[in-house]
Amino acid sequence: MTFWEQIYLPEIIKGLGITSYHLTRNLFLHTAHLLGFAKARPAAVTTQYPDQRKRYADTFRGSHRLTIREDGAVRCTACFLCATACPAQCIYIEAGESPNPHVEKYPVRYEIDTLRCIYCGLCVEACPCDAIRMDTYVHPRIWGFDRRDFVENKEMLMHRSRVLAEKGREGNMDEMLAWYRQQDEQIYDPLRPELKTYTERDKPKNYAEPEKPLELEALDRHQTTNQS
Ligand code: SF4
Ligand code: SF4
Repeated sequence: MTFWEQIYLPEIIKGLGITSYHLTRNLFLHTAHLLGFAKARPAAVTTQYPDQRKRYADTFRGSHRLTIREDGAVRCTACFLCATACPAQCIYIEAGESPNPHVEKYPVRYEIDTLRCIYCGLCVEACPCDAIRMDTYVHPRIWGFDRRDFVENKEMLMHRSRVLAEKGREGNMDEMLAWYRQQDEQIYDPLRPELKTYTERDKPKNYAEPEKPLELEALDRHQTTNQS
């Protein structure tokens, strides 16, 4: 390290300069906007999500999707390589005999427990037939009332592939945000406007407990592994 690097002074001055520049610029632009000038130039650098969204990099690892064949069937052959590679053990697959004579197996059931997923992408790397991808550009689900809300099943994962093909890279996120808005309308209680967050609110009036206990075999498999 040089003398100047050891005393950190140039870097501190550089940091103060950047902060001062943005403070002055934003103050000037906010004042100009109030007076009706320079409205096309955004003042703050904060993205007003979800009204504004940045375009994610093509390498962004979003929620999963199961790719589909030309005939609409799931491409997955239930080989279990993704579940084996998954460090969080959050993929659960049940294999069945495929109705397609050219394919040996297919997943009767395919679930990802997103509460446990760490979005590492190893499942995508492990798949030999490009059946699972994370190029949906959609964030993981952020809230729910039950563990079940965070378990993504085969139909949901295939649906994302269809939406991506039909509506493009914003389609899945649009659907997710529409779902949040819908939930918000159902949950919001005008008699209790002081409650601001979802965790403070009661369950929505139309919420029904599952009729039978949720089967989370992936969780059971993990517990069994820990006990043995
Ligand atoms: S992204 Fe990682 S943690 Fe999530 S399902 Fe795939 S392998 Fe498992
Ligand atoms: S997604 Fe790929 S790796 Fe996972 S079971 Fe299906 S074919 Fe095998």
